[in-house]
Amino acid sequence: MSKLIGKTWIDGNEALAWGAALGQIDYFTHYPGSPVNRVANDLEEIDQEHELGIKFNHALNEHVAILAAAGASLCGARSMVVMKHVGLNIAADPANYLGVTGVKGGMVIVVGTDPGATCSTGEEDVHWYVPQFNLPLIEPVSIPQIVESIPTAFELSERYSLPVLLFLPATLCFNSDAVDLPAPPARRPVRFHFEQNRDAYTHVGAKAVQHHAEHLQRIADLRSSTWRAREFFNSSAPVGIISRGAAHCHTYEAIIELGLEEGTHLLTTELVYPLNENEIRTFAANKERILVVEDQDGFLEFSLKNLLYNESPCPIHGKDRLPSHGDLDYQMVLRAVADFLGCESNPPPRLPAVEIPERLGTYCEGCPHRSTFFGIDQVVGDSDTIIGGDIGCSSLPPHRPDWLLCMNAGIGLSQGMAQVVDEQSIISTGGEGSFFHMGIISLLNAVHNKIDFLHLVFDNRIVAMTGHQLSPTSEGHDQQVDHRKLLESLGVDHIFEANAFLPFEVKYRLEQAQKLSGVRVLWVRGNCAYFPDAEHQHRRKVRTLQIHNDKCGSCRTCFEDLGCPAINERPGSTDIYVDLDRCARCGVCLEVCPNEAIEVQELKN
Ligand code: SF4
Ligand code: SF4
Repeated sequence: MSKLIGKTWIDGNEALAWGAALGQIDYFTHYPGSPVNRVANDLEEIDQEHELGIKFNHALNEHVAILAAAGASLCGARSMVVMKHVGLNIAADPANYLGVTGVKGGMVIVVGTDPGATCSTGEEDVHWYVPQFNLPLIEPVSIPQIVESIPTAFELSERYSLPVLLFLPATLCFNSDAVDLPAPPARRPVRFHFEQNRDAYTHVGAKAVQHHAEHLQRIADLRSSTWRAREFFNSSAPVGIISRGAAHCHTYEAIIELGLEEGTHLLTTELVYPLNENEIRTFAANKERILVVEDQDGFLEFSLKNLLYNESPCPIHGKDRLPSHGDLDYQMVLRAVADFLGCESNPPPRLPAVEIPERLGTYCEGCPHRSTFFGIDQVVGDSDTIIGGDIGCSSLPPHRPDWLLCMNAGIGLSQGMAQVVDEQSIISTGGEGSFFHMGIISLLNAVHNKIDFLHLVFDNRIVAMTGHQLSPTSEGHDQQVDHRKLLESLGVDHIFEANAFLPFEVKYRLEQAQKLSGVRVLWVRGNCAYFPDAEHQHRRKVRTLQIHNDKCGSCRTCFEDLGCPAINERPGSTDIYVDLDRCARCGVCLEVCPNEAIEVQELKN
């Protein structure tokens, strides 16, 4: 990717990485998450190729990531921290104080948002954090503007001594455009040093109040700064439209398609918070009505109404005409703009409508979680055993756990349940990524409170769902954690281990664990089917798989209960077959077949 300098086709993740390099970043940290899951990989490539010497911190959660970025910034380094929208919940505690401490080197907090929940677990609107943190918020409207906005954000951050938030929706993160990329400049020759100043960095009593006042003043200075929004079409028109972020391009295009350039004044602000009040007042002064086009809950509309409440009789519309849920698409914006301006909007569909069959998610062929859940199912059967679920690939459909809320909801909710229910068994589950994210503290909490409780860790040795970032138990990790020693040191009463690819071993260990009391952990390990990729490729080269239909009893265990997508039934027949192009040769179907109808054969040479 980074070899092509000049006009280069890049997506939103790459644009963030290039923006960071062009902004002379010194320090990068993140907790991986869609839709901003690849920024670290892309920046590492640029860093290696151009020998920039950027320091990386692949953090285990967003709380430590944002604080590490702030620490580097307080020593003068330009720092960036990247997380997904729900990650901001984890980082919210420190984020509340970073405006108060102020920063030294430019600090940018990039948050990938997900209107429409296309790549994550929800579409929480994190805009409402912004006035609470009271930090500037930039929202680029296009891929080239993402690249430009990072150096701008660093400068803004240094000028006002405030971390700058940058929100980017999945639509832009995964979209691509051709961008003119210069070679990244060398890093600034800065000697990083922390100037001790307890007065500035200690917030108690009167000092906390004084720092708060200083923070408010910095935001007020920025609010009345010379930062300008961009204006389009006819500034004398009585109808105004204001947009932010990815909605801008739809809005701009809709006005042109409807031929409403003369009758419309469009304003798009990349600095979404704090709004430049004078600019908004000037914009609204000659308007009879205003439409706000934006995704999610209507943060910009709320801000405008708040600002103009006592000043302008001009009605402001927005979420009464556009949905607050799901992502905005072009047709929605086109209809809303046409309706607002009182004209027809019946453009021919741009693409022929295609009926897309519903498709559920599933585990990959050879996924260790599929066989682990098969083992769990053998124990749970039709009982009302509670299965605590967690975020991660272990929570993919068919959603065997009883809930899917947030990171470590399995290990947390299950503890409360374990303390109050008498007649139901509980198996809390979670991946090792979640365990090292915060689950480790939750487990310690169970030990601390002597909670009679069983937790199962799916250790696939990688943070798989967000792009194969190393986890502390990854093979080949320089600092690979010994999970048994770790659990012993936490004071876990009973530790069990099982091989994920042996579902009856999982079943056996689970049954053993259920018979005991105290804090119990079953650590189920098995490499992700696609990591290390070489292992997966090697197995395909040296092994093949055959199903003997003459032995098959058509019990459907392999393709229904286990649910491996590489195994199928021939149409109009009870014969089953394996798709060798998909089969990962994990061998789990052999384990579950009651008739020994499946055979793995070693290939010669
Ligand atoms: S067909 Fe069998 S060996 Fe192949 S991926 Fe599926 S479970 Fe594994
Ligand atoms: S598990 Fe064995 S017996 Fe059952 S359908 Fe599959 S191959 Fe046939």
